[in-house]
Amino acid sequence: MRCPFCRIDNDRVIDSRAGDDGNSIRRRRECVGCRRRFTTYERVERQLLAVIKKGGNAEPFDRDKIKRGLAKACWKRPITEEEIELTVSSLEAELYGNYESEVPSRVLGERLMELLRVLDQVAFVRFASVYREFKDVRDFVDELQPILAESNRESG
Ligand SMILES: [Zn+2]
Repeated sequence: MRCPFCRIDNDRVIDSRAGDDGNSIRRRRECVGCRRRFTTYERVERQLLAVIKKGGNAEPFDRDKIKRGLAKACWKRPITEEEIELTVSSLEAELYGNYESEVPSRVLGERLMELLRVLDQVAFVRFASVYREFKDVRDFVDELQPILAESNRESG
C-alpha cells in the first residue's frame, strides 16, 4: 500500500479489525519511510446482480429504486421507514442467495409483492397495480380476490 503522505510503497500493518458492518476489515498501517500512520479498508467485492427485463435488457439491481417504489406504495400507510428498509434487505438477501449474477425482473417483482402483501395489503394493491402490467381488468380482480377474501375472513 502506497503511503498517502510520502508515497513510499512500504508499510507494516499494526492493527486489523472487522468493520462496523461486519463485511469489511479495517487495517491500521504505519509507513516504514515516514512513520506516519494511515487506515485502509478491505471490502468483499460482491458482483452486482443484473435484473433482466422482459425485452432482454439488463439493469443493475437498484436497492434505492426498489425502496423508493415501496415508499410510494406505503404512502400514508402505518409502515415505518425501518419496515421498508427490512423488506428491501430481505429481498436483497434472498435474491443474492438464490441467483448468481442475473435475476429476471419478473421474479424480483413477484417476490417483492409477496413481501409487501405480508406487510400491508393496501400498499400491496397499490404496488401491484403499478408494477404489474395487467392485461385486462379481470387480471387485476383475480389478483385482488384472495386478499379481499382474507380481509373478509379477518373482519367477520
Ligand atoms: Zn510515508
